[in-house]
Amino acid sequence: MTDASLLVWGRILTGGHELTPSRIEIQDGRITGVEPAQRPRGADFAVDDGWILPGLIDLQVNGVAGADLTSAEDPEAALVAVARALAQRGVTAFCPTIVSSREEVIVERLPVYRARTVEGGAESLGIHVEGPFINREFRGVHEPELLRLATPAEIERWLRVGQPAIVTLAPERPGGLAAIKQLAKAGVLVSLGHSGATSHEAQLGLAAGARMATHLFNAMPPLHHRQPGLVGAVLASNAVVELIADGVHLDPLIVDLVVQHAGVARVALVSDALAAAGLPPGESLLGHQIVVSDGRIIRRADGTLAGSALLLDGCLRNALRWLPKLQPAEVVLMATQTPADTLRLPRKGRVAVGADADLVIMDADWRVRHTIVGGKLVTGQAVGANV
Ligand SMILES: [Zn+2]
Repeated sequence: MTDASLLVWGRILTGGHELTPSRIEIQDGRITGVEPAQRPRGADFAVDDGWILPGLIDLQVNGVAGADLTSAEDPEAALVAVARALAQRGVTAFCPTIVSSREEVIVERLPVYRARTVEGGAESLGIHVEGPFINREFRGVHEPELLRLATPAEIERWLRVGQPAIVTLAPERPGGLAAIKQLAKAGVLVSLGHSGATSHEAQLGLAAGARMATHLFNAMPPLHHRQPGLVGAVLASNAVVELIADGVHLDPLIVDLVVQHAGVARVALVSDALAAAGLPPGESLLGHQIVVSDGRIIRRADGTLAGSALLLDGCLRNALRWLPKLQPAEVVLMATQTPADTLRLPRKGRVAVGADADLVIMDADWRVRHTIVGGKLVTGQAVGANV
């Protein structure tokens, strides 16, 4: 075996199915073979009791382990810290997310958080710019003085320095629809969120090119049978919805309801993790505001729910528990292939020949044991150990 190759064997969950035990050959960062096979001798990893999944993909990560991507003085160091912490937890690719910020901050961070690999960590799929073109009434913990209307000129200045992967905005704000068209034309995934849109306004946003809703139900009016709003419009469309399955932002029954309605190919689980995720209870930063974590729930001092303390592997475990009618392989799609397909990344989110060699090996209780990013083991025991 050369350094650039790995052989992994076990039960694989991909494409919504459980494959019969198979060997996965990895060469130079790509999967070069997936074949049903007996447990091979000489495998780098033979998973007798557990699962091999495509690496987890998180479309919304504000920070983790003390690093806040919006406010960090050294964004490069913050990105590396977040990417490495995520890889420890099975996430192989993610969208570094910043909340509403001054234009200089966005323009400064766009190139740093561009789509790129990070040595020893999860890959960045490009920045998720959440705000500032959002609705003040539904701003959550975004700072009101940083909100503003979208202008073609500001978006043009963003695009000049780097392409965001995702922009979350409110379609009902003046300039919102034009911004959606401008961003969608540039290949950016526009997601509706932090919005008070009526169902009609939301439908206009979808028609203008938005393809997703950001943390559905949170930071928007609830679904009402006579005022279906953004939630109703998006669910009745074919757009993808992000759900924060941390057990705090949404009742498990709502997750079940949405998945039954929309199907796993239209639901992307996200952590919306903050710097406090992975830290003991206490204070930490989101942007320039202090938020307080009790280890599970993160709030601002006034009680406003801020973001999640749970990473995507924990959200996946919740969803597996909450959705017993689904096969585990189907649930796994929501944290792997669905986010990859939503970003139109056909080499991500699947265990298949030609795909990027991003894998997570989990034990029978769905705890992360090893993560492989681009064919390289980035956490866990030394290569050669049995799982
Ligand atoms: Zn948000």
